[in-house]
Amino acid sequence: MGEPPDDSAAVSADERLRLVNALDARQRLLETMLSIQRSIAMKQPLQDLLDAVTSGTASLLDRATVALVLPVPGSECLAPVSTRGPANRADNPFILDAAAEAITSHRIVSRIDESDPNQTKTIIAAPIVVRGVAAGGLAAEIATGQGSDVDQHQVLAAFAQQASLALTEARVSEAIHKAQHDAITGLPNRGLFLERLNQSISTGNKRLTDVTILLVDIHRFKAVNDSLGHKAGDAVLSAVAERIRSTLRSSDLTARVGGDEFGVLLEGAGTQAGTRIARSIVDAIRQPLRISGRSVYLSACVGVASCRTSSAESGDLFNSADLAMNRAISAGPGRIEVFQPHMHAEILERINLLDDLQVALARTQLRLQYQPLVDLATGEPVGVEALARWRHPQRGDVAPSTFIPLAEETGLILDLGLWILREGCRQIAEWRQLVPGIRLNINVSARQAMDPRFVERVEATLAETQLPGPMLTLELTESMLMGDPERAMVQLRQLKNLGVKLSIDDFGTGYSSLSYLRQFPVDQLKIDRTFITGAASSKDELAVTKTVMDLGRTLRLETVAEGIEDAQQLDVLRTIGCDLGQGFLLARPMDPGAVHEYFDRLMSDRQRTAE
Ligand code: C2E
Ligand code: MG
Ligand code: MG
Repeated sequence: MGEPPDDSAAVSADERLRLVNALDARQRLLETMLSIQRSIAMKQPLQDLLDAVTSGTASLLDRATVALVLPVPGSECLAPVSTRGPANRADNPFILDAAAEAITSHRIVSRIDESDPNQTKTIIAAPIVVRGVAAGGLAAEIATGQGSDVDQHQVLAAFAQQASLALTEARVSEAIHKAQHDAITGLPNRGLFLERLNQSISTGNKRLTDVTILLVDIHRFKAVNDSLGHKAGDAVLSAVAERIRSTLRSSDLTARVGGDEFGVLLEGAGTQAGTRIARSIVDAIRQPLRISGRSVYLSACVGVASCRTSSAESGDLFNSADLAMNRAISAGPGRIEVFQPHMHAEILERINLLDDLQVALARTQLRLQYQPLVDLATGEPVGVEALARWRHPQRGDVAPSTFIPLAEETGLILDLGLWILREGCRQIAEWRQLVPGIRLNINVSARQAMDPRFVERVEATLAETQLPGPMLTLELTESMLMGDPERAMVQLRQLKNLGVKLSIDDFGTGYSSLSYLRQFPVDQLKIDRTFITGAASSKDELAVTKTVMDLGRTLRLETVAEGIEDAQQLDVLRTIGCDLGQGFLLARPMDPGAVHEYFDRLMSDRQRTAE
């Protein structure tokens, strides 16, 4: 006879099956968790991670309906962001309510839904905690009686934890991304640019190579921003960022390193390649942009600096490119400058010179010379132009073309300019006793002209020296007016209200648009010396000079020829009808004593002819 059936063996087989099933479920749970964790580590998109959480939960809870619920940004409401199971069930109010309760109570909740008479459902929900705060909920709807409660709660809690990891990771990455990127263009910011530059330069085990950076300055961006508004300004920046990116390989890094400055990092490229790329960036930015229904014309200047990896510090390379960029900006729109070591020495020299200029202003090493402006028809002076002079105790005479731009850059021009204005007006008021009707021309720099206090300072100086407004002519340059035409217009109108005259100096060397020029309330055009030099010898230059004279006449402006050096030039200018002339042939700039003698001689000549 066979052995009697072993009851205990049958129980243990059942038990074993249950155990195997449980082990199998645990194994699947572990595998799913691991796979989600790998995806988090690989920075997969957040939505994919949350979908993996809900589908994992559904599969381990015997195809339950699952919803992952988060607050709708900017509101108190909750909404499912990932669901598994029939759509009409996943966002039913029972599930959302359970999730809300899990969030507020910070624990797993369980509810019975008896709304369907055929099938009672159990809804369980677990909070998703991000940095200690319940930020969402994971809820599942299961047919009541299926599986053990304890196991279900454990599974749900485990998946809620995965969701929490994914969300924490995403928020940290988002915060890091935000801190390292510019919100307007989406480009890396200065901090990230420097960090990447550092990585490129420090070789580690990489082989030696060249690294080049370009710093791109957008010329006139401030004017565009001020005149078209900030929204258009933002659109301009984004468009510029796109244009820069379009000229580069995808491996090159573009960043917004300042308000209107962009940085480009080129690995494995030297100065030559860098300069070539800089040229294509300048060309790309020069193409007109269409913003808010208007054409916007921009230009850029680029500073280029290169080094061998491991031979430099990232900060040094950035500073070098910055120096080169500032040189390019001074040289004019569209310029590209490559950093040279002597630029550092020159900067030091400029800093010293600036210190000295400050001393000069206090110790009156500065003085004014005056150069007559002569009526070309009569040969008689109608006024003088004041020209600043600086005699340095060690360096000797420093040219105004050196110290004026320096003073302009640092703001020292405001004090210097005020001194020139006062001294010039005081002097001319004195000479007017000798030669009634004699006028004064004063050069005004951009920063000074646009200074909000400038108009009242001119007004006060005229009052102090009792000089009538029309006796003073302020010389401005085209570029200073075109830098911010709207603002210039307001300022010029206020100056005109004081009765003073306005002149455009060095006319022809800038890039004025004639339509703007007509709108500015100017009285005088001073044609730059370069045209006058060529007028006597070259037909083309003569034609240009003549055109400018005609333009001046059409706009009813007084025309002045600068830098007349020989009789032939004088003849030509007289023939084409230029009103006034200035130049070494007629009179050199003179110290006040010499001007006094010049006027004395003039008055005696006049008296002699009258007798
Ligand atoms: P600018 O206003 O165009 O002044 C005319 C310049 O041409 C002066 O140079 C003058 O000495 C020079 N010049 C006059 N006639 C002749 C000539 O026949 N041949 C040649 N080769 N040159 C001639 P300077 O004094 O060196 O001034 C250079 C520039 O510096 C001025 O150009 C002006 O832009 C600026 N500057 C001079 N004084 C002042 C000032 O007080 N304030 C400001 N903001 N700028 C000033
Ligand atoms: Mg001048
Ligand atoms: Mg001039």
